[in-house]
Amino acid sequence: MTFAAPRADLGTLNADLHCHSTASDGTLAPERVAQRAADNGVAIWALTDHDELAGQARAREAAGDLGMTYVTGTEVSVSFAGCTVHIVGLGFDPDNPDLIAGLHKTRSGRDLRAREMAAELAKVGIKGAYEGALTYVDNPELISRTHFARYIVDIGMAKDTHDVFKKYLADNKPGFVPHRWAGLGEAVKWITQAGGIAVVAHPARYPLSPTAEYALLSEFKAHGGQGIEVVTGSHSPAEFTQYADIAREFGFYASRGSDFHSPEESRMDLGALPPLPAGLAPVWQAF
Ligand code: AMP
Ligand code: MN
Ligand code: MN
Ligand code: MN
Repeated sequence: MTFAAPRADLGTLNADLHCHSTASDGTLAPERVAQRAADNGVAIWALTDHDELAGQARAREAAGDLGMTYVTGTEVSVSFAGCTVHIVGLGFDPDNPDLIAGLHKTRSGRDLRAREMAAELAKVGIKGAYEGALTYVDNPELISRTHFARYIVDIGMAKDTHDVFKKYLADNKPGFVPHRWAGLGEAVKWITQAGGIAVVAHPARYPLSPTAEYALLSEFKAHGGQGIEVVTGSHSPAEFTQYADIAREFGFYASRGSDFHSPEESRMDLGALPPLPAGLAPVWQAF
């Protein structure tokens, strides 16, 4: 597989290719995410709701009205080596039937998982968490740990959503229920066969050994994956440099995205990240 050479003129554009709306676990409707992106100077934007395309048409229309270039997006939940990994898809055909079916299948286990999470949380004294989380859900097919976190903060059992994850929802914590998401190869195939580019989301966040991380990136590339997030709200400045080196080593396009979910909760606002390190091929040169 060959990759486009870096184009320095594009690398400095304000691209934000990772964020969430009420179609998954964000708190703003697609139009309000678009407005916030435009207000913050974003020129190229993708809404990447978890396992879901429901916000895409609204996001594209709002982006057009605001003068932003829109790139279709989603963030697919994948199980790899006992760990949940997120693969962002960009620039695909949102009407592709195999992609739609694959995302539907990925979403379909969420409700049962949520009921099991509530049963586990009840054992540590958090009652009614399923019904409680649902009051924060806009898309009934997309109940996520984030909705549980908002409920648990609001009943005063934790100070903020990050604290909830630390105490209750992260791997091995009392409310964590192991779940089988899509396969890595499947997710990459759904995206690429719909004409899109697959991108490994926030690679520094996975609890993988260096060997397992190398396996993830090698297998991802072998399946046809072409991109990696380098500058994301989930990475430290040292990790920007570390994953810039990895992007060059693997010949991946580099992506940039805030992973914005909510004005109250997100550490990084839309369009507010530093630019990509020099010498990388920005993934948006492909669109
Ligand atoms: P789920 O897809 O239901 O497993 O939920 C995953 C979502 O939980 C992620 O997309 C984040 O929005 C959120 N999340 C994961 N870890 C944390 C954390 N430590 N603090 C806050 N939110 C988190
Ligand atoms: Mn999320
Ligand atoms: Mn993610
Ligand atoms: Mn995300």
